[in-house]
Amino acid sequence: MNRRELIRYFLNLSLLGTFGNIGSSYAKNIGKVVILGAGWGGLSAAKTIKRLNPSIDVTIIEKNNNFKSCPMSNWVIGQIKFMEDITFSYKTLKEKYSINFVHDEAKSIDYNRKIVSTNNYKIYYDKLVLSPGIELDYSNIENWNNNSSKQFPAAWKAGKETILLSQQIKNIDDGGVVGISIPLSPYRCPPGPYERASLIASYLKRNKRRTKLIILDANEKIVSKGKLFKESWDKYYSNIIEYRPNSGVVGIDNDNRTLITDFDDIKCSVANLIPRQTSAAFLKKNNLVSEGQNWASVNAFDFSSIIEKDVFIIGDSTSQISVGRVPKSGYIANSMGKVCGLAIVAELSDFEKITPSMINTCYSLISPEEGISVSAVYNYDYKDKKIVSVSSGLSPKPSSDIKANAWDWAQNIWEDMLL
Ligand code: FAD
Repeated sequence: MNRRELIRYFLNLSLLGTFGNIGSSYAKNIGKVVILGAGWGGLSAAKTIKRLNPSIDVTIIEKNNNFKSCPMSNWVIGQIKFMEDITFSYKTLKEKYSINFVHDEAKSIDYNRKIVSTNNYKIYYDKLVLSPGIELDYSNIENWNNNSSKQFPAAWKAGKETILLSQQIKNIDDGGVVGISIPLSPYRCPPGPYERASLIASYLKRNKRRTKLIILDANEKIVSKGKLFKESWDKYYSNIIEYRPNSGVVGIDNDNRTLITDFDDIKCSVANLIPRQTSAAFLKKNNLVSEGQNWASVNAFDFSSIIEKDVFIIGDSTSQISVGRVPKSGYIANSMGKVCGLAIVAELSDFEKITPSMINTCYSLISPEEGISVSAVYNYDYKDKKIVSVSSGLSPKPSSDIKANAWDWAQNIWEDMLL
């Protein structure tokens, strides 16, 4: 095998999460990579770089002290798992791969001097990877204020709001209404709100039989796995779920926990308001999002920014218009981290970059017993300069096997990022 074939071999294995350590034979101290965000994209990029070449210095900037997984957080809200089951330490990754962690908030980037400033540090980079996730945007919700999230938690970043919403569901008085509002696509995790609705409905069916669930969807139809969700709701939850398409929430009544649409006011016992989303504010503040856009544009071949040199952007913050139609999912962020990590090793080691290939499977539970899934394989299209789906498939019907696969997938991909 020549060197290029060897790298290609390891990339292919890496996309399956099983690749080995080939780094030690390359040049020493060939560069310093700074990664913002120890979430799905950032962790994957960090581990890829270190496994390909341990002599590259990698520093991760992350404001949180531990990793809380959004995937499987609906299981916590649906009373199947606890927050501890989806919370992990960064310690093993840090020590095993000699990755530096700076637990602080990144504030600004000086592109000329190649320095990222956090509240307390200034950190030099040769290559900068940004995977800061999403910003929740409440600017179109009338009456929204700083205290509203207690009454209307989004629980769209795993953490305090996940626990709050989980407790509100558990303790809901029987006979009321749970409201879930879904923003216009694109947003993080297309099937996520519908899985959440299914698991909450299942809990209500078993424990609070007189309680209704109203889904206010700003989209004209279910965004992902529509037929499978609809069939499951008709079969299991026809007395519980009321699905209203074209019903975006435009305001709230804080005193009465009411969701307001153009057509109706829905007084809720529990209100899960998932707002519209944009790329993380940090990217806009640092001029990495083009004027008038919500998401950051990148070159889909290696996820380099179209605006700044030696800066790479991966994960949910990237624009589908530039990347191609890939979902904003953890699995895709993980794949982007690998593609981008390898591209950076190639740049620092003067290799030719390798054509990217990515995979995605989104599992959703429709009850604590059964799940559904959608999968796709993506390649880079040289003509359109975008990532395109080359094959995809939907599970034919809900099954207990898919539920088991969902938990296995989570455990494998957590291990792929953190161990
Ligand atoms: P994140 O994982 O959010 O990571 C961003 C990190 O950056 C965070 O840790 C944040 O603290 C840090 N950060 C941001 N700004 C700063 C700053 N200025 N300074 C310091 N640190 C900063 N995907 C799937 O593939 N499968 C699923 O089953 C699935 N289920 C989901 C269920 C729910 C309910 C939700 C909400 C999402 C789900 N997803 C799923 C989607 C998945 O969580 C996201 O696509 C993924 O987290 C995106 O990764 P990221 O790296 O872009 O962002």
